[in-house]
Amino acid sequence: MRALVTGGAGFVGSHVCEALLDRGDEVVAVDSMISGSPRNVSHLLSRPGFRLVRHDITEGLGPVAGGGPGGPGDDGGAAAVLDDRRVDVVLHLACPASPIDYASYPLETLDVSSRGTRAALELAAVHGARLVLASTSEVYGDPLVHPQTEDYWGNVNPVGPRSVYDEGKRFAEALTMAYRRERGVDAGIVRIFNTYGPRMRAHDGRVVPTFVRQALAGEPLTVAGDGSQTRSLCYVDDLVDGLLRFAGTAEPGPVNLGNPNERSVRQIAHDVLAATGSRSRLRFVDLPTDDPKVRRPDITRARELLGWEPGVPWEDGLARTVAWFRERREEAAA
Ligand code: UDP
Repeated sequence: MRALVTGGAGFVGSHVCEALLDRGDEVVAVDSMISGSPRNVSHLLSRPGFRLVRHDITEGLGPVAGGGPGGPGDDGGAAAVLDDRRVDVVLHLACPASPIDYASYPLETLDVSSRGTRAALELAAVHGARLVLASTSEVYGDPLVHPQTEDYWGNVNPVGPRSVYDEGKRFAEALTMAYRRERGVDAGIVRIFNTYGPRMRAHDGRVVPTFVRQALAGEPLTVAGDGSQTRSLCYVDDLVDGLLRFAGTAEPGPVNLGNPNERSVRQIAHDVLAATGSRSRLRFVDLPTDDPKVRRPDITRARELLGWEPGVPWEDGLARTVAWFRERREEAAA
């Protein structure tokens, strides 16, 4: 199999590339490096079958096989990202995913979800490839149904600061289904819930890397609001397993992928203190605008369709994550 991973140098993308190489696939990772980093895949560069391309997919992915001038893959002259050998599967993960990243890059976030998704779907159409769109639990917004099932349509503020991500991904889902219906593309959607693990950026603003960095540095842990809001955290290896299982089907989804183990943010802070042995205190800070109050996936569909459920307990995943950040403590402080 030959896979194209958009966002392949990101947190989740780099783990996906590694898992694909481990099972013997060839991988082309494409990344704009807005929120990804070549360092996430530097250990893969020497592996046979791996290629990293720095490229913004909003500029297109062509020319591609079967495209040609004016053809379906013609992007009006963007550099060729791929040679014309067949791609079997496209894992479309490219998008800033941390609230502070998409607040810093609102237009890029909208562009990659719209034009970038279209480029990925177009390529899948030309190659007859399976495409998996990495969507998000954010399509449920501040959910009024709990836990969230895939048939819940969500409660999203279309004009708030998070909307560039939420609505971007909702548009990407609509585009994916339109390509499936109109063009017969074997495309499907997974909705990824909060995921954590090694290779998150220490300063990406998300709860686990932030708390771990602060705890290791002996700084206060910045708990937003009163910390009663909940999240359900999935270790990255489990997520990647679910993603690749879904890629191996012809299912349209959407399918939730996440760990239903729900905890309050305050509890997460206490767990991080215990896992690091830190004596940092908690500092309560303003809740971000439109911060969802609860979040927990119903994973019945993933269990039934994919035989998947998360296997890494929170305590183990957190310990592995802390160990990884501990090794890079000086970098994180910088
Ligand atoms: N959060 C927090 N302190 C931080 C970072 C995040 O209390 O330093 C909270 C945030 O307000 C949210 C939850 O942790 O309620 C998860 O935030 P994250 O940015 O990780 O992901 P989200 O689920 O909001 O996309």
